[in-house]
Amino acid sequence: MFEGHVNAVQLVATYGTDDQRQTLDADLAAGSVYGVWNTEPNPGLEIRPDGDLRWVLGGAKSFATGAGHLDRILVTARNPEGLKQLVLVPIAGETERADNAGWQVRGMRGTCSGRFDFSGLVLGNDALIGGPGDYEREPRFSAGAWRFTAVQLGAIEALVRHLRDHLVQTGKGADPIQRARFATCLTETRSAGLWVRRAANLAETQAAEAIPFVLMTRGVVEEAGLKTMEAAARSVGTASFFAASRIDRITRDLGLYLRQPVPDQARDRAAAAWLEDDCWGDDRWW
Ligand SMILES: Cc1cc2nc3c(=O)[nH]c(=O)nc-3n(C[C@H](O)[C@H](O)[C@H](O)COP(=O)(O)OP(=O)(O)OC[C@H]3O[C@@H](n4cnc5c(N)ncnc54)[C@H](O)[C@@H]3O)c2cc1C
Repeated sequence: MFEGHVNAVQLVATYGTDDQRQTLDADLAAGSVYGVWNTEPNPGLEIRPDGDLRWVLGGAKSFATGAGHLDRILVTARNPEGLKQLVLVPIAGETERADNAGWQVRGMRGTCSGRFDFSGLVLGNDALIGGPGDYEREPRFSAGAWRFTAVQLGAIEALVRHLRDHLVQTGKGADPIQRARFATCLTETRSAGLWVRRAANLAETQAAEAIPFVLMTRGVVEEAGLKTMEAAARSVGTASFFAASRIDRITRDLGLYLRQPVPDQARDRAAAAWLEDDCWGDDRWW
């Protein structure tokens, strides 16, 4: 939820007009919560002109995190020319448009990431943020993925803390096999943290290497998450599968949240860029 809020705020601050930025400031001061919904079921969301200076929305969004709970949502919608346009929609109180019945997932149920139907909502010109294509404008679009890697890292670090507590409290930490497994979790997690920190830096300073670096970071963090979840299950055993266990909750949430768009293609794009040139930044090694 917070990652989506930050993303929306950054997009409005970057592509909005002065008036739209002022409205954003006032909203944030009042405690409004924003989000971004891009993912959609076919045929997707569209905006059509509705007389002078007005637009009408048609269609729905899926994976709509916070559906029924957010105040304003930044959506991508297809304009009459077929291009992606950012539209800021006030949705506070529009609970009947949210449908979370299908959000029957193993983890992250609390995010209410169901479906939201925008059909028939009418908006003024001031709802359009930036121009067509701004949402996917690079490097902001691909490099912005560093934010979800940070969220994933937070869950992985929490998992390592719970695993450590378990090993200390049960005395299992005296066992060299348990220690070896714990060492793997530590190095995976700390190494992933280094990648995420640098990815954040490169992305937020719009450095040339930001995109391949963030794409590679996605895979590094995914691997760290998968290895740590597996290690926690093996070290703690069945106790980690009970609903009351924090390890169970984190594993269910993280397991789903690791599933971000086109992971294989992200890693492949990163590897191709690294074949061309070292993308680490200043301290190059070739
Ligand atoms: C809890 C949660 C909250 C979310 N909240 C939001 C939100 O608020 N707003 C929003 O816009 N979205 C949201 N999403 C959606 C998210 O951004 C992604 O769209 C979604 O997670 C994609 O997952 P997927 O596994 O279906 O992806 P996919 O990209 O379909 O990946 C599945 C697999 O298919 C492979 N694959 C994909 N395309 C191809 C291809 N052409 N050829 C070969 N292989 C391919 C991938 O590499 C991967 O192995 C959320 C998702 C989750 C899980």
